[in-house]
Amino acid sequence: MTVLLDGKKLATTVRSKLKERTAALRAKGIIPRLVVIMVGDNSASAVYVRNKKRAATEVGIEAVDLHLPVTTSQDELLALIDQYNQDPKVHGILVQLPLPQQIDEKVVTQAISPLKDVDGFHPVNVGQLFMGTPQALPCTPRGIMELLAAYDIEVAGKNVVIMGRSNIVGRPMAALMVNHDATVTITHSKTQNLAAITRQADILVVAIGRGEFVTKDFVKPGAVVVDVGMNHNAEGKLVGDVKRDDMLDHASYLTPVPGGVGPMTIAMLMQQTVEFAERS
Ligand code: NAP
Repeated sequence: MTVLLDGKKLATTVRSKLKERTAALRAKGIIPRLVVIMVGDNSASAVYVRNKKRAATEVGIEAVDLHLPVTTSQDELLALIDQYNQDPKVHGILVQLPLPQQIDEKVVTQAISPLKDVDGFHPVNVGQLFMGTPQALPCTPRGIMELLAAYDIEVAGKNVVIMGRSNIVGRPMAALMVNHDATVTITHSKTQNLAAITRQADILVVAIGRGEFVTKDFVKPGAVVVDVGMNHNAEGKLVGDVKRDDMLDHASYLTPVPGGVGPMTIAMLMQQTVEFAERS
């Protein structure tokens, strides 16, 4: 029997604990505040921003939602970020990606103060994570670690294979797993004999953005499978990177899509904002 790792349920528990923490902060006169900046009119980004704002409000974080025109210059955006970096009433700053082509994502990521970098993408925070002394963590890998821990899935000493090497999922996931004493292999689009490597995994984390790419052939019987992917198939249905039906009665644990990693990502964003407010 494959156990589904219920991220939706765990995210609800995380959010209710956060409500208590924001209430305690507010009692001390501190209103946790998250600034979410979106530039242009990307429809997917608009949905993500709306969801983040809703989640923030629900747990008692004040979300300041700034929607800037697509013509915004890099200097204008940097000036705004600087203003919020200096503002002691703001605890977290997030710039929704992608950005219009006149704005360099790397410059923007580096402009956000590492102390307010709720996404954990600033090079200082990435460096701290890889040194084993994290100050802020990218939300998706952090959510995955919380989900595994909630189901008492041991990571130490395990063979963990990660499919994908993006800065937001694959790479920070590898660092976090190493920090938790796993033995880690990262694979990507140039990896040879991919399935032979992924079949070595006790825990397989898949973040490649290819709908239902991972079949039974990629997975050792009894392995834990974490499916990060969010893709729309030909019928417009949301599917993961893993073929779910293949995993049932094959994997020991599986994160469903939807309802697995996704809700945990947003919950961790809220948690990090609250932590920053507490540190302030
Ligand atoms: P990304 O930046 O596009 O990176 C994809 C990675 O997968 C790259 O490293 C790429 O290799 C690798 N890859 C692509 N095809 C492959 C193949 N056939 N075999 C092995 N590796 C392959 O993607 P991402 O931003 O990490 O996102 C990955 C997926 O997770 C997407 O579906 C995204 O929507 C989803 N996602 C979900 C959440 C959530 O909260 N649930 C959060 C973030 C992302 P190269 O480096 O060689 O190109």
